[in-house]
Amino acid sequence: MTTEILHDHLVRVTLPMRGAPPSVNVYLLRGQRQWILIDTGMPYCAFTPPDLELIVITHMHADHSGLAVELRRQTGAPVWMHRDDTALLHDLKSDGVHAALLRRQMEKARTPGDMAEAVVKSAGRLLELFPAFTPDDDLPNGKRFDSALGPVEVIHTPGHSPGHCCLWLEQPGWLIAGDHVLEKTTPHVGFIPGRDALADYASTLGRLRELPAKLILPGHGAPFTGLNEALERIENHQKARAARIRELLAESPRTAHEIVTSLFTRVSRPGDYHFALTAVLAHLER
Ligand SMILES: [Zn+2]
Repeated sequence: MTTEILHDHLVRVTLPMRGAPPSVNVYLLRGQRQWILIDTGMPYCAFTPPDLELIVITHMHADHSGLAVELRRQTGAPVWMHRDDTALLHDLKSDGVHAALLRRQMEKARTPGDMAEAVVKSAGRLLELFPAFTPDDDLPNGKRFDSALGPVEVIHTPGHSPGHCCLWLEQPGWLIAGDHVLEKTTPHVGFIPGRDALADYASTLGRLRELPAKLILPGHGAPFTGLNEALERIENHQKARAARIRELLAESPRTAHEIVTSLFTRVSRPGDYHFALTAVLAHLER
């Protein structure tokens, strides 16, 4: 664990993770009485926060929400998360729902049987790291709360997950970005039944471009500048991938599995295959 004091009132705590990415950032923002914790790390992360008045979760993935229940119990602080992620988390944690959905998707994609079984197993192991919980309050777009660094505004940024939110600190001009904007990689935007996740993601770009952001505080990696450049890079990456998929389909009809193996070189591990497939399915949904 390392800590970086970005300001007297804001600390970045980096918690090591097993596998990739190698670490996740959580942020301590001084509130009105005690600290506000933004994201929590994996359930296995050894992290003891100071006294907390609030826990805000940018999105429901285990590396961001994993310790939410335990830290709520330890500190008594309420947990806020967007209702769309609460709904998805409840679905995923319902017995067998996620495995059945995955099997249906992979049947349609014509994933070979042994890979499909390996993906279901590996996704099940990953899902065990997700805490089953109900937040104490919703985190709707436009919600504001106070901090020692001035008001904090919630910006709903669906795409990486349906209820993903960024937090905008207007006075210093800092954006706590979760996994919506990362400096070196493109955030994973995967298929979610009933949603056009890529359209969700694209719909947030205009709003973010208007922000006079001086510093981006991401969920993974060091703080960085240049929000618009990062958004443009991500948008171009998604456009290029969409174009490549159209090209492949124009050459000959292909299953989603064939598109995955044509587009991605490293998909022999079930976890990597799973992410690649849901990314391709998000494009096919468009
Ligand atoms: Zn993450």
